[in-house]
Amino acid sequence: MRKELEQRLFERWPTWFNLEGEPRPTLMPFGFEHGDGWFDLVWTLCERLEAVVVAVETETGRSFHVLQVKEKFGGLRFYPNYSNDAIFALIEAAGIESIHTCEVCGGPGRRRGTSWVEIKCDEHANAS
Ligand SMILES: [Zn+2]
Repeated sequence: MRKELEQRLFERWPTWFNLEGEPRPTLMPFGFEHGDGWFDLVWTLCERLEAVVVAVETETGRSFHVLQVKEKFGGLRFYPNYSNDAIFALIEAAGIESIHTCEVCGGPGRRRGTSWVEIKCDEHANAS
């Protein structure tokens, strides 16, 4: 994903994404390993997670971090340092939405390709 878009996520949720971290345990220094078209989807996921995360952090005192965000087998993968049923459900819902979302433009897309699976709309499937 483009640096400007990544920056907006980092600035909005600065404690979640550890840019300066060692590649282990966090892989966020590699950035968001997916196309710009999923920006809105990731943003919305983070907004939905926020209330849940704040409650869990308050209750447990554990800081929430996102360790890796990437595309895998045509779907969004979003790995936090811990999860619960509510967090898991939100991430899973975003993953399901991602397989219908063009990774280039965010428009309605579907799975393309056989060996290299990616989600593209009709326009971007033909462009590549
Ligand atoms: Zn597209």
